[in-house]
Amino acid sequence: MKIYFKGAAGTVTGSKHLLETEQGLKILLDCGLYQGKESGAGRENRHFGFDPQTVDMVFLSHAHIDHSGLLPRLVKEGFKGKIYCTEPTRALCEIMLADSAHIQQADFSYQSKKSISQEDSEPLYTIDDVVKTIDLFEPLAYDEWIILHDDITVMFTYVGHILGSACVNLRVREGKKTHRIAYTGDIGRTNQQIIKGSEPFPQAEVILCESTYGNRVHDDQTMSEKKLLEVVQETCVENKGKLIIPSFSLGRTQEIVHTLDRLESAGKLPSIKVFVDSPLSTNATDIVRSFPEHFNERILKYMEKDAQPFGFSGLHYIRDVKYSKMLNQLKEPCIIISASGMAEAGRIVHHLANNIEDKRNTILFIGYCEPSTLGGRLRDGAQKVQIFGHDHDVKAKVVVMDSYSAHGDYQEMIEYLSCQQPHLIKHLFLVHGRNDVQQEFKGHLDQAGFHHISIPKKGDVVELS
Ligand SMILES: [Zn+2]
Repeated sequence: MKIYFKGAAGTVTGSKHLLETEQGLKILLDCGLYQGKESGAGRENRHFGFDPQTVDMVFLSHAHIDHSGLLPRLVKEGFKGKIYCTEPTRALCEIMLADSAHIQQADFSYQSKKSISQEDSEPLYTIDDVVKTIDLFEPLAYDEWIILHDDITVMFTYVGHILGSACVNLRVREGKKTHRIAYTGDIGRTNQQIIKGSEPFPQAEVILCESTYGNRVHDDQTMSEKKLLEVVQETCVENKGKLIIPSFSLGRTQEIVHTLDRLESAGKLPSIKVFVDSPLSTNATDIVRSFPEHFNERILKYMEKDAQPFGFSGLHYIRDVKYSKMLNQLKEPCIIISASGMAEAGRIVHHLANNIEDKRNTILFIGYCEPSTLGGRLRDGAQKVQIFGHDHDVKAKVVVMDSYSAHGDYQEMIEYLSCQQPHLIKHLFLVHGRNDVQQEFKGHLDQAGFHHISIPKKGDVVELS
């Protein structure tokens, strides 16, 4: 069997790993979009480096766009197989991919007008391609080995990253051999606010493991409620300012809303309005609400007293752009949670432009931002930024809280892998991480007793014995 590393190799976006057996069976693990501006993402997204028509099936680890966002392009270029994932991932992909199609269309119109790139004469994909893609989704249950093909058996196991996320455990027969492969997708933190945590996965010989925070130790999650309350108090009560929170629609938005919900229930939240200003975040929250069977014990216990863990008096979800614009006129202190998390696009950019020059306000980052993005520059302490072509002095306070990360740190990832017997692992491939981070992670893994670790580059092919 060969593994072709086609994306998220030495980078954190564009996850795509292709398995090919001697019999010619081709299995794709994830089909993510390249994001960010500096990586030549536009070109990368138009060239798979393999023929989509020859791929037999896809296993999708979770709904984040950097793992799922090129599926409609795969279908547009002739893929006709099944896309296997969990039920929540299918539900979330319906809204995530539709939103992505909308962005592709908008980007294409903008580029056409500016004649920046004429490489392709049409958008990456459209909503029609998304509809065809969703038809190919085949949801499978967690924790059950399922025979899909004479030579392929799969089991999804909880990995605690976002709703629906799974480790893909595969048994692939090739002649007399059976390859035992595990693809972690993204690994969550140990104590998630909402979803079930990760669980041990069956022993594998070949592991493809993410490595986003392979060099980091995150803040303690148990402190996040206290820290958030401190930021709210200082900004909204003492300074009478606005708290602006750029947040990924899926995962972190629900976590931060739920934390505020807990604070409100405990009578600790000051009496201020909270706005979730994003149609996608609002829709994602509706979907998360509809899958309580994947919630953890802590939130289920909380829901015995408060049936609405993402809703409290003072909280408003905004879909309509008209109401979003009205927030600009609001004079009173408030909290605005909006997407995108890296502050590159979406309504959050307008809120930053309107609030960044007022020293009473705070901008709170609760997730990873690519260094090249507006969020990344603000996180790095920029004193001046350009927004919509205008210079802005950064007078608002910028606060970073990484305890809300949906990715485990290196200790949590090693803990996740500790269910494996290291001497039985023949290959441990580190994917989905920056190269310098992966080198550090490799060192930590080595110390923890894991060997045969490699860091593939994009385009590498490895033959498994
Ligand atoms: Zn993810």
